[in-house]
Amino acid sequence: MSLIVQKFGGSSVKNAERIRHVAEIIERTYQAGNDVIVVLSAQGDTTDDLIERAQEINPRPSNREMDMLLSVGEQISISLCAMELERRGLRCVSLAGWQAGVQTSAVYGEARIKRIDAERIQSELDQRRIVLVAGFQGIDRTGNITTLGRGGSDTSAVALAATFHASLCQIFTDVDGVYTTDPRLVPNAKKLSEITYDEMLELASQGAQVLHNRSVELAKKFHVNLQVVSSLEDKPGTTIKEVTKVEKTNIAGVVKDSSIARIALVGLQNNPGVAFQVFDLLSKGNINVDVILQSIGRENTKDITFTVHKKDVDQAVELLDEHKTALKFDHINTDEHIGKVSIVGMGLMSNCGVAARMFEALYEAGINIQMINTSEIRVSVLLDEADVDKAVRAIHAKFFDET
Ligand code: ADP
Ligand code: ASP
Ligand code: MG
Repeated sequence: MSLIVQKFGGSSVKNAERIRHVAEIIERTYQAGNDVIVVLSAQGDTTDDLIERAQEINPRPSNREMDMLLSVGEQISISLCAMELERRGLRCVSLAGWQAGVQTSAVYGEARIKRIDAERIQSELDQRRIVLVAGFQGIDRTGNITTLGRGGSDTSAVALAATFHASLCQIFTDVDGVYTTDPRLVPNAKKLSEITYDEMLELASQGAQVLHNRSVELAKKFHVNLQVVSSLEDKPGTTIKEVTKVEKTNIAGVVKDSSIARIALVGLQNNPGVAFQVFDLLSKGNINVDVILQSIGRENTKDITFTVHKKDVDQAVELLDEHKTALKFDHINTDEHIGKVSIVGMGLMSNCGVAARMFEALYEAGINIQMINTSEIRVSVLLDEADVDKAVRAIHAKFFDET
């Protein structure tokens, strides 16, 4: 007998009809003789609706109360789905994150799973119960409810698969796999039958919503057999694994991120230690910085430009302004109308012409590049926000329509 973890996203459980369909998939897996742990997201737009309701009461609620509120969404899903499984005469139990032993760090809204105490779930599995766990949530050391960041139910599922040595972790969603780009933006995007953990991690980190980036990180670390499949149609999805065949296109996909903003510190002193001071300050404020560019120094001053998540702009500017005297810069510029488009692929490591092809596609589309940033298997460009979708289409066509 093997253990399978099945995670269903918000659209897959959005109403009673969808819950019935999900229950059918779970029942089939269970009746085939497997132990099953199910992880569910909040129904449909529940999480967004809860955020809106919070805003109506207090535009700046504490992170603790936000997590208390948001954790409710997933609990509605697991109890409703358990009721449907009960109706079908199946043995099951629903567990909130804290009941399932999901221990996290104490960072509200962005908590990381530290470990999962296996005892409770194991005892339920031993009694041949289907265990339904609320995704996206856990509990910190002092007993507060925490959430894992938007899309975090994928991470709950992979963490459970790693803890219980599941033979398979299936992420059921509203697309039937990972595509060469978001199929909603480019309808002729191609489905990938497989993709490496490293490529998927880059895609997820650069904005491909289909998997939470932390889930891919965990899957790689603990060798979780991870699949993305459709909850609507029974057909093969995408397997995420260590090694795959390198496609002749050299890239696995194109991805966009419009959630970033650019901050420029103008007129900094051109001395050693300045970059350290700036980024140490931001890191202590828990602000993640992505693309960084430093200008060539002139007349003993230099500029440092970097990107952060849009939600962090105000806090970053406040923090930098508070330390203006120590940092000795002239002024700060911010731009929230930018976006990032990236190509990702193992083929980038060995083929230097790939980046040039991406730039060619942008040139042909008349799109100006503001900043460039690379990793071993990724090239990212910063663009005007208005150009982002056009850039994705042009780059995707260059790599996937011309080969
Ligand atoms: P769920 O609610 O099931 O967690 P998400 O909305 O988080 O689903 O993720 C699925 C969505 O991810 C798809 O509907 C699709 O629009 C988007 N997406 C973005 N990039 C990709 C990609 N490369 N391949 C597949 N889907 C993608
Ligand atoms: N419900 C949460 C969200 O909307 C978590 C998830 O769906 O994975 O972000
Ligand atoms: Mg998701």
